Amino acid sequence: MMATAMTTSEGRLPVVLFWFRRDLRLDDNIGLEAALASGWPVVPVFVYDTDLLSKLEDAADRRVDWLHQCLSVLQTAFVDLGTSLVVYNGRVNEAFNGWLSRFDVKAVYTNRDYEPAALRRDEAVRQQLMAVGIPLHTFKDQVVAEPHEVLKADGSPYTVFTPYAKAWKSVVARITPERSRKASLTPTEWKTRLCPLAPEVLPSLEALGFKPTGVVYAPPVIDEARIAAYHQWRDMPSVEGTTRLGVHLRFGTVSVRRLVGLALRLNETWLNELIWREFFMSILYHFPKVEHGAFKPAYDAIAWCDDEAAFQRWCEGRTGFPLVDAGMRELNATGWMHNRVRMVVAGFLVKDLLIDWRWGETYFGNRLMDFDLAANNGNWQWAAGTGCDAVPYFRVFNPEQQRLRWDPQGLYVKRWVPEWGTSDYPAPMVDHAQARERALQVYKAALALR
Ligand SMILES: Cc1cc2nc3c(=O)[nH]c(=O)nc-3n(C[C@H](O)[C@H](O)[C@H](O)COP(=O)(O)OP(=O)(O)OC[C@H]3O[C@@H](n4cnc5c(N)ncnc54)[C@H](O)[C@@H]3O)c2cc1C
Repeated sequence: MMATAMTTSEGRLPVVLFWFRRDLRLDDNIGLEAALASGWPVVPVFVYDTDLLSKLEDAADRRVDWLHQCLSVLQTAFVDLGTSLVVYNGRVNEAFNGWLSRFDVKAVYTNRDYEPAALRRDEAVRQQLMAVGIPLHTFKDQVVAEPHEVLKADGSPYTVFTPYAKAWKSVVARITPERSRKASLTPTEWKTRLCPLAPEVLPSLEALGFKPTGVVYAPPVIDEARIAAYHQWRDMPSVEGTTRLGVHLRFGTVSVRRLVGLALRLNETWLNELIWREFFMSILYHFPKVEHGAFKPAYDAIAWCDDEAAFQRWCEGRTGFPLVDAGMRELNATGWMHNRVRMVVAGFLVKDLLIDWRWGETYFGNRLMDFDLAANNGNWQWAAGTGCDAVPYFRVFNPEQQRLRWDPQGLYVKRWVPEWGTSDYPAPMVDHAQARERALQVYKAALALR
């Protein structure tokens, strides 16, 4: 059955809904393609979930601004195809109540999300729909291998990256694709499968309670040369050596299958980064307790310093350690920080200042454009030595040695800390050697309590 203006006896259009979440694209979108193949006219829907938005600290949130622009781009594409995004600003259950009374919904299609809160939300929607006899069909799209697909022989999850990555590679080599690759739909086929709707006005950023931030949405740029040379340049923060695709993976404006296909062909080091992403998703899925505490519970006994003034200096990039300060200023100014520098600033907060890794995790979580709960949490726990695949806690980064190694000419530091080397630049706020000793003692004392 193809899209027509047909209505039921109550005057409601019989349709299926495709619910966009972290998959804001039309190409290679598994759940959307399944909805389009359902035989019912498809209505694309999205919820600005106030349960999530109300937790954001700042009305000038770059992610919301970016998301808002991204939805406008999607809307333009849908309007060209003769339909409209239907967007609700509020709670998810209210959104569905509204849609179920507006349309004669035959089924809801969506791509799976693996974060604890998302799993709870989706289960509540499943129940809500089930109560009125409507199925919720979910699909693998956000990852190449889902958390339950890469398990040890005894069925338990991997907790160490290297064996996980080995198993991931062999699983991925034999996974039957969820569907065989079809040629993309022609515009006419899209039009006949989407529900004809007049364009709807999307909520403005202000109506959502947010302000413009200056961020400009741009579609993903996939630079094959950069991917091919990734292993040579990825640690040099002054060089554009990484792909900057994190924000697109976070919102699903790029297909991870496409990226993994490229990685398999072009660069194993970069493939491993994409596997780290799925590894941390798997850890959060199987061990949701990591959202609030150390993967290794003994590390929850560490006596952190609650030094708010020191934390503030770290946040503002005024520690007197140039690489740390450059990184924090880059994050504050752009919503992005180079991975090598993320490792250094995280290590500095936790080991040199002995501040709880969760403070840093939250600070990053409020600012990173590519913020992803699993990756942020996993990497912070890695830096703190509290995580599943942790380096031993007694390996402490020396921020000055890191600067000399990865930014020897100071190109990156000078870009973000122009006063470095002048009398305006602060002296180091701690003595690294003493701070390192203190951290080792405090960690040792916590572990002795086991
Ligand atoms: C303390 C700390 C916090 C971090 N928080 C996040 C976060 O919230 N979201 C996030 O996506 N990454 C996070 N990372 C990992 C990494 O720094 C970023 O993924 C990377 O810098 C993004 O740049 P890029 O898009 O150019 O990625 P590239 O270097 O080109 O890598 C491609 C993609 O692989 C994935 N990836 C790369 N490294 C990692 C990693 N170590 N762990 C998990 N996935 C990885 C990301 O999806 C990334 O976009 C964090 C790292 C640290 C040390």
